[in-house]
Amino acid sequence: MRPSLLDPLFAPVTSLAGVGPKVAENIARVVPTTGPEEVARIVDLLFCLPTRVIDRRDVTTIVQASPDTVVTLRLRVIRHQPAPRAARNAPYRVFCQDESDEIALTFFRAHGDWLTKQLPEGDIVMVSGKIDWFHGKASMIHPDAMAREESGGLPPLDPVYPGTAGLAPKTLRKSIDAALERLPALPEWRDPSTSRKSADNFPSFGDALRTLHDPAEPEDVSPEGKPWRRLARDELLAGQLAIALVRARLRRRGGRAFESDGTRVDAIAGALPFRLTDGQTQSLSEIRGDLAKPEKMLRLLQGDVGSGKTVVALMAMAHIADAGAQSVLMAPTEILARQHFATIAPLAQAADLKVAILTGRDNATSRQPVLDGLANGTIDICVGTHALFQQGVEFHDLGLAVIDEQHRFGVHQRLALSAKGVNPDLLVMTATPIPRTLVLTAFGDMDVSRLTEKPAGRKPIQTASLPVERLGELGDRLEKALDDGRKIYWICPLVEESEQSDLVSATERHEWLSDRLGASRVGLIHGRMSGPEKDTAMAAFKSGETRILVGTTVIEVGVDVPDASIIVIEHAERFGLSQLHQLRGRVGRGADASSCILLFRGPLNAVAEARLKVMRETEDGFRIAEEDLRLRGEGDLLGTKQSGAPGFRVARLEFHGELLDEARDEARFLLATDPDLTGPRGEALRILLYLFGRDDAVRLLRAG
Ligand code: ADP
Ligand code: MG
Repeated sequence: MRPSLLDPLFAPVTSLAGVGPKVAENIARVVPTTGPEEVARIVDLLFCLPTRVIDRRDVTTIVQASPDTVVTLRLRVIRHQPAPRAARNAPYRVFCQDESDEIALTFFRAHGDWLTKQLPEGDIVMVSGKIDWFHGKASMIHPDAMAREESGGLPPLDPVYPGTAGLAPKTLRKSIDAALERLPALPEWRDPSTSRKSADNFPSFGDALRTLHDPAEPEDVSPEGKPWRRLARDELLAGQLAIALVRARLRRRGGRAFESDGTRVDAIAGALPFRLTDGQTQSLSEIRGDLAKPEKMLRLLQGDVGSGKTVVALMAMAHIADAGAQSVLMAPTEILARQHFATIAPLAQAADLKVAILTGRDNATSRQPVLDGLANGTIDICVGTHALFQQGVEFHDLGLAVIDEQHRFGVHQRLALSAKGVNPDLLVMTATPIPRTLVLTAFGDMDVSRLTEKPAGRKPIQTASLPVERLGELGDRLEKALDDGRKIYWICPLVEESEQSDLVSATERHEWLSDRLGASRVGLIHGRMSGPEKDTAMAAFKSGETRILVGTTVIEVGVDVPDASIIVIEHAERFGLSQLHQLRGRVGRGADASSCILLFRGPLNAVAEARLKVMRETEDGFRIAEEDLRLRGEGDLLGTKQSGAPGFRVARLEFHGELLDEARDEARFLLATDPDLTGPRGEALRILLYLFGRDDAVRLLRAG
């Protein structure tokens, strides 16, 4: 039950004076609502923070006012000139003056009565807005604020809120003021010692909100100011607390202890043509430790492209098979699923494991035996795509789901899996190393294993950037490389030439290279080809029948042709840093020294230039991920913008990301000392969870 103390804040905005259904509807458009109902609640309104303030402290005169900026004037109202009855579209004018000049305040479709009250003739008024000059006469169309001096004038600092058509700033302002009056005194959930530690003398939650909505200085509404930081820190703590609660709960129930005597794990180790890296050994032992525990595993395996995650996953699945249960390995694309299958199958055979593949491309006849094997338990490991989630797929005893390249899967698939009533241990593999801050917010409920080194024998990839003007020269060099027996990837951003764009397309480049190097040596692969066509193109390149593979970013993820040692990325200036890094990871997998040529068309903007520089400087995926975050903002790195992952209401990671660690540590500490949040501070923390809409976690507490 929500503490009754909070009732006033969770009342709908329509309970505020002056807010009817119409205004409430408009408010709901500006303010993200988190309640089950569509109507915004008072707490939602309070978390709608100003984006900036208009400073009205400098009062100027008509003549001295600078054009194109909002200015504040002190005027005497001279006379009203209503629109003539015959000309409805003509404006209503109110003529005013100060000591410097005269100005016409101009209103379209105005209510005369209202204006007479706002601007009584003879009164002194404060008016704020932009001045227009026309034929030497000043006017101000729809001033954005006006007030009679007698009634107090204008607020010196006026917060500006994210606006919407239909909601007058003034109406929003007034409802927020009314909402602030409903704010009850709340107990403090912050530990006074933490606030001392971070050397920040934080205001209380209530004071922070009041200052943000009624600033005394423009800095008061800055995301970096104390009031906003206080709220952001609260929100991050609420989030981390919720994650920690969910996690504690998952660990307590639903998990299974998968005991393995190691037979098949060892058999696979014995069948590998190489030794595991230290990182692989370490990660595997972390994973096997989790699997053997009676709690559910939620683990993220992070490793750069080519760091050897698949082998680790296979051995984890062998552990599950040793324990008598089944595993799935889910890949984001058909190509990848088939490739995983091809890699895994021979090794699995050596360990006496039955492996199958299930993708959307299979027909009913080839599907049926797989479905049967999954249902009766004869299949130990099934590799596949989204098809694994489809109706009709039943498992005998699914113990582990490995999800490859999670960020392409999205949270929905993860939920789909549990919606099927299956709730296996979970191992998520990401090839794009994710910056720490994002791991905490997006995967905060997961443990992390990292593969930081490349498998032994890998040589560094030489990376160079080259302006497209030197294409001819590059052609000569590649011709020589082909004669030396090298294999080359050539990536283009588009499939076909498009009229709107001057980008070189894959088909166009394929033609050019075919002319120059001989058609039989050049292959083509792109997303508009059918599945079998893609397979054929891939197979021809793998076998060496074609020596150059021109393609779009279908080649991007995970594709493994170890003897390809050169990659050309055309229009490199168009790709994001993570994607460039992913693409480059296609080479450097074999014995040969590899190179990556970033072909660009200038002039480069600063961000593109910075990206290419990072690429030339480092192959460290974790550093690249951090730079990527810095260069383009955290949202689209994880695709959270599209997938609608739970966002934040007040915290903004570009400003408040560094508060996360503290919040995480505090959440863990709090639950370690008061797991059911029953102490006095625990009570206050429950209030915090409600305020930020994390009350699902409170329900977990009760269910225990
Ligand atoms: P990732 O999935 O992390 O991108 P893969 O698992 O596809 O990487 O591995 C890339 C290549 O490295 C594969 O050909 C794999 O057989 C090989 N490999 C994996 N582990 C090792 C190792 N310890 N030593 C040498 N080669 C390895
Ligand atoms: Mg992989």
